[in-house]
Amino acid sequence: MDKSVAIIGGGPAGLMAAEVISARGIKVDVYDAMPSVGRKFLMAGKSGLNITHSDPFEVFVSRYGKRSKNIEPLLKAFGADQLREWVHGLGIQTFIGTSGRVFPMGMKASPLLRAWLTRLNASNVTFHLRHKWTGFLSDSSLRFAIPDGEVTVKPDAVVLALGGGSWRRLGSDGAWVDWLKQAGAEVEALRPSNCGFDVEWSEHFREKYDGHPIKSVILSFGDFRQQGEFIVTKEGVEGGLIYAASARMRDEIDTNGKAVMHLDLKPDRTLEWLVDKLSRPRGKRSLASYLEKSLGIHSVKAGLLREFVSKEDFTDAERLAGLIKALPVPLVAPRPIDEAISSAGGVTFESLDEYLMLKTIPGVFCAGEMLDWEAPTGGYLLTACFSSGYAAGNGVLKWLGIS
Ligand SMILES: Cc1cc2nc3c(=O)[nH]c(=O)nc-3n(C[C@H](O)[C@H](O)[C@H](O)COP(=O)(O)OP(=O)(O)OC[C@H]3O[C@@H](n4cnc5c(N)ncnc54)[C@H](O)[C@@H]3O)c2cc1C
Repeated sequence: MDKSVAIIGGGPAGLMAAEVISARGIKVDVYDAMPSVGRKFLMAGKSGLNITHSDPFEVFVSRYGKRSKNIEPLLKAFGADQLREWVHGLGIQTFIGTSGRVFPMGMKASPLLRAWLTRLNASNVTFHLRHKWTGFLSDSSLRFAIPDGEVTVKPDAVVLALGGGSWRRLGSDGAWVDWLKQAGAEVEALRPSNCGFDVEWSEHFREKYDGHPIKSVILSFGDFRQQGEFIVTKEGVEGGLIYAASARMRDEIDTNGKAVMHLDLKPDRTLEWLVDKLSRPRGKRSLASYLEKSLGIHSVKAGLLREFVSKEDFTDAERLAGLIKALPVPLVAPRPIDEAISSAGGVTFESLDEYLMLKTIPGVFCAGEMLDWEAPTGGYLLTACFSSGYAAGNGVLKWLGIS
């Protein structure tokens, strides 16, 4: 067919759109600012590519919070099951881990990406690397900065799949926000999601415990309550448990300038048990030695208590027990977006039609993390990227009159 489609952004969302469109015999050109595509996808595979999750559909959809309603139709068309089938189609099996998370065999992204690119190359997809999109010209042509100058193209349809604002060295730098706003799209500011937080540690604590894991604690924040672990950093805290609560804690800081998370350092013991233990005479033993020997609280957990419990509270069994069960840890600010696993904000669903086409720029579709949704880690991020890429690809086909 004598039509051409430009996909800008060669991450999971853009490549999925390219696959859907090229499968119908249409010439697809994929442009990416970087010297190779799929860099964040490859990075996601470094510590085990969690591609999707085995949650029941309703639970899966609920992970997208206030955007669940917008993501649901996308997942109905191409959700976790279809994604697993698709991975199998590339010759890679998947398995469900103990937490219900789904991984490709081997856990890595590179074999999958390699097989995928081979298939795309064979089906009329041309890659244009080191092509940084720098916005639209007045006639809606696309303008790209290339190493030796500038090129413009005017395809019949465009899919923007430019990613969010985290880990800019992998290609997604969020520079597109202003260009799309200028073109009349509604874009929510990009914010860190699945991120760490700054904590004002004392010099002593920071030096001693930087890099230490805090294992098996319960983090409470509002209606969030989950057991897990995280890591102390020079600047504050990061890791799975923190990321899981990060959207709520970030929003609280945005609204009130601060947030306080509470940690249960002894989830396997009741308050009464702790009060009883702490009320007993401890003879000549120091409190530190007593906490370690009788309560099993030592190292970084003991350090946390010293960091946030006053001298008076340390000598009061009931108050100390209460603080071991619910230690308030003040968070100052989310870590910068560049360090976050993903970003919130982006092109709002209100500025898109049901096929993910921009209402203000007909023929231009958006997909992936650049859309205004967020989700916890667990495979939900990649699933929504693939799923929205699939929807945008089908939207392009409909726009071109191919159903
Ligand atoms: C360390 C890490 C681990 C992760 N692990 C997981 C995981 O296990 N499971 C999970 O579900 N998710 C994970 N994620 C998140 C997941 O990788 C992203 O959500 C996903 O890659 C986003 O896909 P995308 O296609 O929307 O954008 P991206 O993958 O960011 O791709 C966007 C592409 O657009 C290109 N681009 C950007 N701007 C321009 C421009 N102006 N011109 C041309 N090209 C441009 C970029 O170079 C890039 O190639 C992880 C993320 C990180 C950082």
